[in-house]
Amino acid sequence: MNKFAQAEEVTMSAAPELKSTLTLPQTAFPMKANLPQNEPLRLARWASLRLYDELRKAGAGRPAYLLHDGPPYANGPMHLGHALNHGLKDFVTKSKTMAGFESPYVPGFDCHGLPIEIKVDEQLGRKKLEMPAPAVLDACRAYAQKYVDLQTSQLVRLGCFGRWDKPYKTMARDYEARTLEAFYGFLEKGFVYRGLKPVYWCIHDRTALAEAEVEYEMHTSPSVYVRYKLTSDSADLSQSLAGREVYTIIWTTTPWTLPASLAVAFHPDFEYVALQSDTEPGAPALELTSQLGAPGSLHLGTGDANSTGPVYIVAAELAASVVAACNLGDAKEIARFKGSLLDRSTYQHPFLDRSILGVLATYVTADQGTGAVHTAPSHGADDFYTGQRYGLDPTCRVDAAGRIQVDPEAWHRAEPPAFDGKKVWAANPIIIDLLKQSGALLAAADLTHSYPHCWRCHHPVIFRATEQWFIGLETPMKDADGKPITHVGGSPVTFRELAIEEIDKVVWDPAWGKERITNMIATRPDWCISRQRIWGVPIAVFLCENCSQPIMDAALNKKIVDLFDRDGAEAWHTTPIETLLPSGTKCAHCSHGEFRKEFDILDVWFDSGVSWFAVAESDPDLKAAYAQFQNGSGTKCLYLEGGDQHRGWFHSSLLTSVALRGKAPYSNVSTAGWTLDEQGRAMSKSLGNGVDPVDIANRMGGEIVRLWVASIDFREDMAASENLMQRCADIYRKLRNTFKILLGNLHGFVPERDQVKESELLPLDRYMLARTRDLTEKVLAWYDAFEFHRVYHAVNEFAIVDLSAFYIDVLKDRMYTFAPTSAARRSAQTVLWKITETLVRLVAPILSFTSDEVWDYLPAVEGRAASVHLALFPKPEEVFSEDPTKLLEEWKQLFTIRDLALQTLELSRQTKIIGKGLEAELEIAASGEQLALLQRHAAGLKEFINVSGVRLLEGAELAIAALPASGHKCARCWNFMPEVSTYGIWENVCTRCQNALKEMNIAPPQSLDSSEGEQ
Ligand SMILES: [Zn+2]
Ligand SMILES: [Zn+2]
Ligand SMILES: [Zn+2]
Repeated sequence: MNKFAQAEEVTMSAAPELKSTLTLPQTAFPMKANLPQNEPLRLARWASLRLYDELRKAGAGRPAYLLHDGPPYANGPMHLGHALNHGLKDFVTKSKTMAGFESPYVPGFDCHGLPIEIKVDEQLGRKKLEMPAPAVLDACRAYAQKYVDLQTSQLVRLGCFGRWDKPYKTMARDYEARTLEAFYGFLEKGFVYRGLKPVYWCIHDRTALAEAEVEYEMHTSPSVYVRYKLTSDSADLSQSLAGREVYTIIWTTTPWTLPASLAVAFHPDFEYVALQSDTEPGAPALELTSQLGAPGSLHLGTGDANSTGPVYIVAAELAASVVAACNLGDAKEIARFKGSLLDRSTYQHPFLDRSILGVLATYVTADQGTGAVHTAPSHGADDFYTGQRYGLDPTCRVDAAGRIQVDPEAWHRAEPPAFDGKKVWAANPIIIDLLKQSGALLAAADLTHSYPHCWRCHHPVIFRATEQWFIGLETPMKDADGKPITHVGGSPVTFRELAIEEIDKVVWDPAWGKERITNMIATRPDWCISRQRIWGVPIAVFLCENCSQPIMDAALNKKIVDLFDRDGAEAWHTTPIETLLPSGTKCAHCSHGEFRKEFDILDVWFDSGVSWFAVAESDPDLKAAYAQFQNGSGTKCLYLEGGDQHRGWFHSSLLTSVALRGKAPYSNVSTAGWTLDEQGRAMSKSLGNGVDPVDIANRMGGEIVRLWVASIDFREDMAASENLMQRCADIYRKLRNTFKILLGNLHGFVPERDQVKESELLPLDRYMLARTRDLTEKVLAWYDAFEFHRVYHAVNEFAIVDLSAFYIDVLKDRMYTFAPTSAARRSAQTVLWKITETLVRLVAPILSFTSDEVWDYLPAVEGRAASVHLALFPKPEEVFSEDPTKLLEEWKQLFTIRDLALQTLELSRQTKIIGKGLEAELEIAASGEQLALLQRHAAGLKEFINVSGVRLLEGAELAIAALPASGHKCARCWNFMPEVSTYGIWENVCTRCQNALKEMNIAPPQSLDSSEGEQ
């Protein structure tokens, strides 16, 4: 029930002049928040206070708590995931600051990389081709800056504190210089090597393409089944194959990759069958256009038991479709074995002088093909890594324009093959001819399928192994003095092993993060750090024109870092080689004297992964604290991002820090779940279920977004919707209402003058302070554990149940009808004041706007800070000096009795014995300790239960009876009192009220006229 409505009711029925003698809540704190209008005003106030700087001044000398910001990508407006992440970070730094730490927040932005370069490409179009590199970089820089500015304004709008006027940006000159410096660190410590890796390649544009630059379009490819003759002992597979002519069959839609075929992959766990067939290859094959036959749709033939014809090994599950596709109608199974048996079997290449190796791979599927996968390490990612495992040569014999060169090692005839020097598409029919001639072709047809195409020119792309820069995960580690780090027994500790050891020292929250990142580090291939793009930090290395080896010279590297510090990464494009390289420089490997610049750029994960070095270790505002973290003196360093960063930023940061500093860059890692809609679906434009935090801030208030962030355990996936935001807005109104009532009741209270000593407080007030201390202890512990949702729920319950529905409700009699200066009323005010002072601090990290607004309306005290955010959390013992446990236990028993009393009153109301609570009095019978407890609290029971009287009786067990109150109803306080009398013109005023009026120096008007004169 609305307290003001009830108060008004009291006054309405009293004589009009009598109402003015009640001390009703009074505050200018507005009930209506108008957050969309008022929040920007408060932001302006914080800006004029230079609040972030003031916080840093206040924090000087305190122990540090570092939250190092993971940079969001600056290519679009903020979405709900950003708001969530930054909201959480803001809760952390604000709560750590108020807990007495110095917790600066230097936000960052990830600015380099492909998505921005692609957008700029689209904007520039063909113009880009004529532009010098620095001009393109300028365009990228401007594009990123636009979104840095936009996201900054949006995060500031949500009330997130930070050094927003000076964030770190991965595209800043000094950051680019530190990134390059970190790369040189890897290079000089021997982590970096150059090697081959297959990438998407457009032969039309002669460029590598990133995953994001590939679009799938329909394409018609030749689909061929090719037999590879077994050259290892067939008896190793099955005795029934001894002495037979055995083949396996591969299926491919890129015949041009067959000159690069080095292996056939089998699934180790699949069943493979050996099929005997007398059908000669070249017999008319079935027409097949993508209908490769349903598995099991064809019965295998019976064959001739004495046949000596060829035998074909294929996966059992695919046998029927292969038989159909290759027209082996008479095929008969003569053996069956596990794929693992085929490991290291050998085959003859169908047209080259080359032995093909049988390998095992679990990515082999039984969806299509034969279960025997043609493997060309230079033309496929899976193929490449399988090749690495088996030591196969990934050399690529397809050049940038897509022309095939025959492998001279595998072609010993005088005439080169017809495909030599041909583009891959033109080579396809030539190679099919070769297969036919050699008798290896079992079937050929056209297949129309979805195939990767270049996003720019829309030509089909190929996979092609190209030279890339790698960081080797198996690099042996050295300590700070350059001595090898070894296991017990002397074997070297590798980079990968040390990284995994370091993971173990970090606190992962939630705990599953540890296993996730451990598995990723344990199984990842070497880190390919080069990209064939322009928008990023160039791998600023000189390569020998003759042997392609890089120059390794620490002094030269330092010179280039200095150049970057001064002029940014653009300088690599604009500074002539002669300016950088001393004349007469010779290649250390081949003594050649000409060099070229490498223009590949670093992987953006390398950029952001060195932020601990470029920012935490280098920024004047952070470096002292970060050094304390690094030297193990107890300072914490937290990374807090979305759960996908085990693969991303947590991962790359770990690797760079372990390599360059021998330890993890963080002590704690927390991860947030995904934001989903109420049905648990991802948010998407097409579903129209997105929630835009900026829109919510503009319509409902940034505070509502903050409250939503606090309302759910961020470790889980989190639901968001318009509906849930409205629910947060409802909760917000209730919290605000509680603050308004608290402030209203503090009217006229001057803490210095009116405060009642803790020992002299009335028992109920003492209880509420004990309860507040209990809440404070819990909330502080929850902030410490980032359990913001528990803070949210506990504060809501305290405000809505303990305060609004109970304490403030039962206090009404004391607060409104007692003389304002009476000790009992001052006792309540003292506690209401302490509660408000406590609560406003406890909610400040979450309700940053409203708490600061409440702060402005609190009774003045000397030395009050200009903003709640400059205050510290209350210490529990400052809220209430005693251990509250015993007191809370005692009151728990009283509340049990109260609940029973309220039930009794409700029953009596239903049977019309009584009306409102104050029209009743209670008889409570109890015995022993329970009776003693009630007797100790006898004086406060009437207020506690909100009735006109309570009589305690000795009884065998607890029994409560509700009776109509005896005495007479006081027209002022509505209590039924033993005595009411006429006071001046006022009738039926109880003695208590008359005494209160006297204390208030209010003389009763003797007539209506005189009373009106006073008003
Ligand atoms: Zn292209
Ligand atoms: Zn050389
Ligand atoms: Zn009264």
